[in-house]
Amino acid sequence: MRKKIIAGNWKMNNTNSKSKILLEELLGYNFPTDTRVIVSPSHTQLGFVSDKLKNSNIEVAAQNIHYASSGAYTGEISSSMIKDSGVFITILGHSERRTYFNETDESLKEKVDKAINENLEIIFCVGEELVDRKSGNYFEYVKSQLEKTVFLQSIKSWNKIIIAYEPIWAIGTGETASPEQVQEMHSYIRNIISKKYNKSLADSVSIIYGGSVKSSNANDIFSQSDVDGGLIGGASLKSEDFAAIVNAS
Ligand code: PEP
Repeated sequence: MRKKIIAGNWKMNNTNSKSKILLEELLGYNFPTDTRVIVSPSHTQLGFVSDKLKNSNIEVAAQNIHYASSGAYTGEISSSMIKDSGVFITILGHSERRTYFNETDESLKEKVDKAINENLEIIFCVGEELVDRKSGNYFEYVKSQLEKTVFLQSIKSWNKIIIAYEPIWAIGTGETASPEQVQEMHSYIRNIISKKYNKSLADSVSIIYGGSVKSSNANDIFSQSDVDGGLIGGASLKSEDFAAIVNAS
């Protein structure tokens, strides 16, 4: 049975003092034990947040890592740096990283390799632009993103891979994909994992949805059979909203 996962992507928000308040509020909730709850703060807060959550059921993820182990990469962060902060999960391939920081399927393949070699768990984001949705090319678009990155991993790496389907047109826009659109893509992704590897692996992979999830639409989206939770942006910054989403999982 796949566990549900609700991951809050804080993006470039919060300071240690704001995070402290948010975490203390979140720690006051009794979340369902069959849901993994993850928060993903900015790099400077990883140590602070992981310390604060040490004896709790809330896990911490980084928002990105570099593909090199160390060296002359000003402004970047390595896998060993996040591990040093007590963090063993990272988001990779978020559309904002692809759009604003020129991340490509090719550079993301290197990052996936690095993360897997370092024994990190990854939340790997894929998702089409509006133009691909409108032209009907969205399945091919997502398939190609997967084929150039995580599908190059061997089967044994897949216990460390979570897929996040995040249609770009629904991120931070207030526009949400309908539960049917989400289910259709998740089922497609599971199907191509099954064809590439096997059904038993496909049935075990968590595929979460991201794109303007709110407490008001979470239940409808999470009740779809191939949806294993969500990657939550804006609504993860308020404890009440995030908690309501976790409780809807
Ligand atoms: C995200 O950043 O991954 C995201 C889904 O953002 P939002 O929920 O704000 O659309």
